[in-house]
Order: sequence, then structure tokens, then C-alpha cells
Amino acid sequence: MLNRRQFLKLIIQGAVLGNFINLISPELEKALAQGEIRKLPIIMIETGTCTGDSISLNNIWTPTFSDIFNNITEWRYDWTLSQGQGDLLHQVILDTEESNTDFVLLVQGSIVQQDKGNYNHVALENGKLITGVDMVRRLGLKAKYVVAIGSCATYGGPASGYPNPTNSTGVQNILPERRVINVSGCPAHPDWIMGTLLHLALYGEPELEKFGRPKMFYGETIHNNCPRRRYYDQGIFATDVGQKECLYRVGCKGPVTYADCPIRQWNDRFNWPIGCNSPCIGCTEPGYPDLMEPFTNHFPDIPFPGGSRATTDRVGRGILGLAGLGIGSYFLASLYKGRIHRTMISSTLKKKGKLKIRKVEKPRTYYPKNNPDANNSNN
Ligand code: SF4
Ligand code: SF4
Repeated sequence: MLNRRQFLKLIIQGAVLGNFINLISPELEKALAQGEIRKLPIIMIETGTCTGDSISLNNIWTPTFSDIFNNITEWRYDWTLSQGQGDLLHQVILDTEESNTDFVLLVQGSIVQQDKGNYNHVALENGKLITGVDMVRRLGLKAKYVVAIGSCATYGGPASGYPNPTNSTGVQNILPERRVINVSGCPAHPDWIMGTLLHLALYGEPELEKFGRPKMFYGETIHNNCPRRRYYDQGIFATDVGQKECLYRVGCKGPVTYADCPIRQWNDRFNWPIGCNSPCIGCTEPGYPDLMEPFTNHFPDIPFPGGSRATTDRVGRGILGLAGLGIGSYFLASLYKGRIHRTMISSTLKKKGKLKIRKVEKPRTYYPKNNPDANNSNN
């Protein structure tokens, strides 16, 4: 069987050459036949969601979604795809809970907390409606791994956008006892979802970065691998969406967004947003979409310690220069990212204030140690 290093290499190769699952399939089949790995039992709970991640997952063309189903996972419960309904389907959850099987809880959608979660019911059990927040906590405390997929399940996403009347949030915030693996994106790329599940099946938990995302997919910024980077470095910028130069001045959030879209691309490696002359809107980042809006706004200037100011052009050049000196670009990018985010929101609010759109009362937290909202849950 492949070792982890070979697997990670295939993840990258697969992004460039074709679907990595194609590359790994022969080894996988051999390992399954020899009983070296077990299929992963999956329970997918859908909370406040548009089911975009299911659609994304179904969008794997080679191999087909059913190949993945049959070879790697035991997909036990999924509203969108299950033919069974009602008590028959719900029994699958009860059986899985009772059998103490090591299963993976996949969650798609934001967790609705307002009014004890009663705007989002996911099951009927003994005549009682079960809320999404209760079901995710109940299963999340029993699952071997909890994987949140998509922007909503990871960090709240569009469903938690201001003014957030449903008090929606990401899975980690209602499961502080567990380390949630966050496969973010709006939607998440099918490779990111299946690659994470594969890693769990073969090697256990993948290495995660500070927001709980697998480093193998979210280890670098869009900007680092962008084919338009040479335009950026030469200061050649598009003045409008639709042009072929660097889209930074029309709002591209690539410099502060971690994902491998430039190399992996979308729709079976057909194209990606910047390839279609549209800026990256930062859909994989915590705080999306609020912190990334307006999507076509240029980054504001960033205040530095000591009172000096730098435009984000200079920040880009600074990161490059310091990286050249051998300082870790990830650390630097994170440092600047924090400042960029804070400054972006204040600048955006000023602009929105003029437009009389809204103001944000308090900054969001993503991993609170004690989340009082979790007390709304029955568990
Ligand atoms: S700002 Fe956007 S378009 Fe320009 S190089 Fe960076 S990621 Fe690419
Ligand atoms: S390019 Fe940016 S907005 Fe588009 S899918 Fe990738 S991370 Fe999301």
C-alpha cells in the first residue's frame, strides 16, 4: 500500500495531471482486497444548507461518484441521495449509534442555533422533532471523525451573514469538545472532500492548519500559485472584471485565501474563477462572505506598528522579499492576513456606512473555549 508521502504526492500530481483518485485506485483496490483497509462508514447530516457540496461531490466525472461510493466508503445516510425515507432511513442512524461502529460524521450546512435550533429540523424520532444542532452534537460526540464540508458547516458561511437572524454558526463552535476537520469552500471541491475521506481511511487525521483545514489542500494562498502572479509582480492590473491581467485591483482576495484552486481547478480541471477573468472571492476563508465583501473592492491600506501605512501592493512585495530571505511565507502571510482582515472589515464598514447598508456589532469568534450558545442544545 502507498505510504503517506506517496499519497500526498499523488494528491498534487492528481491536481495537475488528472483526478488523483484515478491514480490511487489500483493501489486502493489491492489494499481493499487484501483487507488492509476498511471502507469508511459515513453519516452525512445536512443542516442549514443549499446542498451545494453534494452537487459539487456529484460533479466528479472521472471516476464517477458511484465508483468512489463503492470502493472507498460505506455511505450509510444522506438525505439528498438516499432512496429510503422516514423511519426506515432514520433507523440507519439509530443502528449506527447502537453498534458502536467507527463512523465519520460529515456535516453540510450551517448550524442554526436561534430558538434552540428549531428553525432547522433534521429528523422525527418517537414523535419528537430533532434539531440540526442536537443531531450534530449527538452524533459528533460519538463519531470517530467529524468533518464539516463547505463554508456554512465550517465557519457559518452565507447562512451566518449579517444580521444572522438564525444565529447560525459552524460545527466547531457547537462541538468545542472535538477537533472538527474543516473542508471549507463555497462549495468545497470534490477532491478536497474525497481526498480528506481517503486520508482518514488510509492514514487517519490529516495534518491541519490553524483553522482546522487539511494542509494538503489549504496549505498555500491562491496568490502563491496564481498564473497571473507575474502581472501582479510587475504592477500590471486589470481595471475591470473580465480582463486578463491581475485582478487584484478589482477585488481579488487571492492574497489572503488558502486553497489550491489554481492548480486543481474546477469541473474536472476545466477552469477556475481567475481563469474566467473573475476575482477570487475568498470562499474558503473564515468570515466569508462578510469579511470578503464587497467582492470587487480593492484591499484597503494596512496600518503597521509605529504608525506607518502600506498599500497591499507593498505588502505583496514585502512578503515576496522576506520569503526570499528565507522566512516562512505561511507565517508571514498569516501575520499580514490578520491585519488585512481587520482592516478590510473596518474599511468595508466605512463604505457600507456611506451606503447605509449596515454595521457589525461585534467581531466573530471561531473557536470559543466555552460557547454559551451550545447550551441551547439538549446534549
Ligand atoms: S491578486 Fe488575484 S489575480 Fe492577482 S496574482 Fe494574486 S491571486 Fe492572481
Ligand atoms: S478561486 Fe477563491 S473563490 Fe474561487 S473557489 Fe477558489 S477559493 Fe473559492
